[in-house]
Amino acid sequence: MATSRATVVPMKVAQMKAAQVPKPGADFEIVERGIPEPGAGQVRIKVQACGVCHSDVLTKEGAWPGIQYPRVPGHEVAGIVDEVGAEVSAWKKGQRVGVGWHGGQDNTCRECRRGDFRNCRNLKVCGISYDGGYQQYMVAPVEALAAIPESLSDVDAAPLLCAGITTYNALRHSGALPGDLVAVQGIGGLGHLGIQFANKFGYKVAAIGRGPENAALAKKLGASVYIDSQATKAAEELQKLGGARVVLATAPNSKAMSELIDGLGPNGTLMVVGATLDPIEVTPLQLINGSKRIQGWASGTPTDSEDTLRFAELSGVRPMIEAYPLEKAAEAYARMMSGKAQFRVVLTM
Ligand SMILES: [Zn+2]
Ligand SMILES: [Zn+2]
Repeated sequence: MATSRATVVPMKVAQMKAAQVPKPGADFEIVERGIPEPGAGQVRIKVQACGVCHSDVLTKEGAWPGIQYPRVPGHEVAGIVDEVGAEVSAWKKGQRVGVGWHGGQDNTCRECRRGDFRNCRNLKVCGISYDGGYQQYMVAPVEALAAIPESLSDVDAAPLLCAGITTYNALRHSGALPGDLVAVQGIGGLGHLGIQFANKFGYKVAAIGRGPENAALAKKLGASVYIDSQATKAAEELQKLGGARVVLATAPNSKAMSELIDGLGPNGTLMVVGATLDPIEVTPLQLINGSKRIQGWASGTPTDSEDTLRFAELSGVRPMIEAYPLEKAAEAYARMMSGKAQFRVVLTM
């Protein structure tokens, strides 16, 4: 067999930057990686912006079972379809898309067969099950894609894909009707959006924060009442207003949540979206009197994301953000973890 002695020139794979977590608990590292190719049923997204969510701690610290490392976090992704894989017909190159927490369902489990994709038993999570948005390009299955309306900027759309959809979806499924008293506990990444959505839904909004410093901002965001939980007993203040139909609990503080159960009115619901591992404490009698309930809510599907984005476009609800370049992912993450960000931290590529 004849062999040529021609020099082999290695194929140069186009490179991109990514902020990856090399192993659980390790610091972020900025690395060069080959730009990934989309497989069947997937698209490649040129990431424009990615929000930094507190749940990224699951990837950073390895607190979610089965994560393979190195892993790129990020589930508040706004970008442009850059390439489509085989068998993709509904999404086109150049289209603006987002990816949130819901990173794809299996379409075969009992919940999926019922159309309850949000509760898929084998739900994939962007930035946990596969590499997320802390990078210049990422690949996502079409089940994870939400279309972004033209009038929303990338940095505004990104936080709406987790913090936004979570508060919007929890409120619209909470049973509160226009005119009802709805309290929003916590004025942070979730809460500052929750107050705006609650106001635009036509609720009477009571914002509950710690200390007087957020009172003016809460009112500007649409609260008609501000309750300082350090200066007063928030539950009693809510009862003076007739009791809340819903308390949207956004700050991950189980003790503060427990104290608000007595602020609910008849048929009231404590709607829990702030994720924490400590128990909420409640006696059966607290729930029995007035038929009260405690409910949790997780994010939503990409079509819920599209509803959130369209409603934000329609109503003017926007996140307040602090933007950092991708290279400063570690600093951006530390800022989010400090709890001092006003209010969502967003990486730009
Ligand atoms: Zn999130
Ligand atoms: Zn499923």
